[in-house]
Amino acid sequence: MLQSALFTKTRKEIPADEVSKNAILLIKASFVNKEMAGVYSYLPLGLRVIKKIEAIIRDEMNKAGGQEVLMSVFHPKENWEKTGRWNSMDDLYKVKDSSDREVALGPTHEEMVVPLVQQYVNSYRDLPLSVYQIQNKFRMELRAKSGILRGREFIMKDMYSFHKDEEDLKNYYEKMQVVYKNIYDRVGIGHQTYMTFASGGSFSKFSHEFQTVTEAGEDTIYIDEEKGIAVNKEVLNDEVLAELGIDRSKLVEKKAIEVGNIFELKTKYSAPFDMVYKNENDENITIIMGCYGMGVSRLMGTLVEVCSDDKGIIWPEAVAPFLIHLLPLGVSENVSEEAKKIYNEFSKKGFEVLLDDRSLNAGEKFADADLIGLPYRVVVSERSLKEGGVEVKRRAEEKGEVMAVDKFIEMLKA
Ligand code: ATP
Ligand code: MG
Repeated sequence: MLQSALFTKTRKEIPADEVSKNAILLIKASFVNKEMAGVYSYLPLGLRVIKKIEAIIRDEMNKAGGQEVLMSVFHPKENWEKTGRWNSMDDLYKVKDSSDREVALGPTHEEMVVPLVQQYVNSYRDLPLSVYQIQNKFRMELRAKSGILRGREFIMKDMYSFHKDEEDLKNYYEKMQVVYKNIYDRVGIGHQTYMTFASGGSFSKFSHEFQTVTEAGEDTIYIDEEKGIAVNKEVLNDEVLAELGIDRSKLVEKKAIEVGNIFELKTKYSAPFDMVYKNENDENITIIMGCYGMGVSRLMGTLVEVCSDDKGIIWPEAVAPFLIHLLPLGVSENVSEEAKKIYNEFSKKGFEVLLDDRSLNAGEKFADADLIGLPYRVVVSERSLKEGGVEVKRRAEEKGEVMAVDKFIEMLKA
């Protein structure tokens, strides 16, 4: 893509009330636009990141047997009354239309997915089953001061699984723990993301959060490095530690962001809807459920919090909006001709390139490249051409290296 054609430009000004690092960098680099507290629009560069994160999540969900759906954002009030959450959930958005009909804006979809799946599942032969979606969710968050980490409108992946018994749920739930780890590895934060034991609510002892360690986090977790797991501060007590076989003296306290949360719901939502299946003996049995949430936009914000420096963002390759930022420098015709050729060469080979074809000076182009944070900065100048090619610098490194374009392409392929 030609940078001159990108409709957004990097910005110096940010909204006065924006205090979080992720939002400040994402607004300056024009990945997102702030509409109001906790509400953001995604611009071309930002949407490319979201799509890449989503593609990784979809791939892993499909491999785990999930079938993708897209449920409605408007939820009938009756569904929420059935589970008691119309009155008990304080962050639920309730909307009234001109005929005084009330609906909820979906903050999560148990109240929708249960009556939906119920229509198709009758017998033990229909189970197990899992469905998921990636969708905007709405929650009346009071503290919306963390940029896209805590939106009032935000993008979530939510999966729901349905089983004939607790044993089958347990097997699937353990498989999903591995799937979640794979996703965090693939987006580039696996090494600092811990599976964390948290309260399970009324239906199971624990739920499992996936927590990424960073000072920007709102949660406090206690990590056992040797075991590679953590315990949320809210559930930390001697009984829990004994059960997990964790020695309190080994725990290290850290701030962390909850990037995912999985629950064994069991019959919590199936029972209120009387969701049953017929077993081999033709008896009605209440269906057992699990749910698996992951904040897609929060994951993007987390990446910015943990992969950035004072100059800007440092995108991991797997989710970067483009792989290469190609920067022709100077006013020479020859340089811009060469840059076009190199751009075509990269594109032909399937590498995603952003070509900064604007007439700006080197300092301005470098500053924008650092802010936007693509993994490779490739400079074409009279000097680099004289020295035999282009100057390649990784965003995360200080120094670049001049090399032939072919050699760089070989390097990328490797
Ligand atoms: P939190 O404790 O941070 O409010 P939660 O327990 O309410 O999170 P869940 O209901 O389990 O979150 O939602 C699943 C996932 O969706 C979370 O693990 C998180 O990654 C993401 N998420 C939840 N609330 C928000 C929000 N307001 N903005 C962005 N992402 C969110
Ligand atoms: Mg919440």
